[in-house]
Amino acid sequence: MLIPDIIIAIDGYSSTGKSSFAKLIAKEFGFLYLDSGALYRGVTLYAMENGLIDGDNKVDEDRLRRGLPGLDLHFGNSGEGCMTYMGGRCIEKEIRSLDVSRKVSPVSAIPAVREYVDRKLRELGKGKKVVIDGRDIGSTVFPDAELKIFMTADPEVRAERRMKEMRQKGEKVEFRDVLENVKERDYIDSHRKVSPLTKAEDAIVLDNSEMTLEDQMVWIKELIAGKFSAKR
Ligand code: C5P
Repeated sequence: MLIPDIIIAIDGYSSTGKSSFAKLIAKEFGFLYLDSGALYRGVTLYAMENGLIDGDNKVDEDRLRRGLPGLDLHFGNSGEGCMTYMGGRCIEKEIRSLDVSRKVSPVSAIPAVREYVDRKLRELGKGKKVVIDGRDIGSTVFPDAELKIFMTADPEVRAERRMKEMRQKGEKVEFRDVLENVKERDYIDSHRKVSPLTKAEDAIVLDNSEMTLEDQMVWIKELIAGKFSAKR
């Protein structure tokens, strides 16, 4: 299926499968995939490793802000293998841990962190033909994106999926803890002052509680065919 050079913004709640969906869209249409959450997770890992977050998840904002200009987070080849790097180091596994998940929302609520990530995304996405997933891509980072999807699903379904994914990667996690983290991130992400998680007015809602990835691909292909066929 041929589609025009557009930006596809995929926002939504934690663990709704945004990245799996976005990756498949990228593969199907030959688009570049950008995972904005990975950048927030990378900044969080950096803050943790440099002792900038205390036991109560309080972040030393001043020191973090000063460290950001020297922080080299970037994406590698989005094919097989590692996607996210800090300098020359692959940080893919660490940034997906529950430890990082527990600290990422307070870190991503810091305005300087959001500016850092937004700048990187706009630089990388300016060539179009890009699919980006996150919380505020359609509302703030790329408000002119031609296609905006807002993903949601029942919290229990999301926690179950997340738990399976983590266990597959060898992390020992309990359903209760994952569900608590999913709900906590929903709350913090939706209530922060800067760029909260919110559906852009022109975004199309996708509730995938009872949909497989294949169902979602059928859904988006129909959507794209309807929306862009006249412009081809
Ligand atoms: O998408 P992912 O779950 O990896 O994102 C991790 C966290 O990064 C989110 O819970 C949220 O706090 C933050 N985030 C954000 N804005 C984005 C993407 C992620 O605040 N665009």
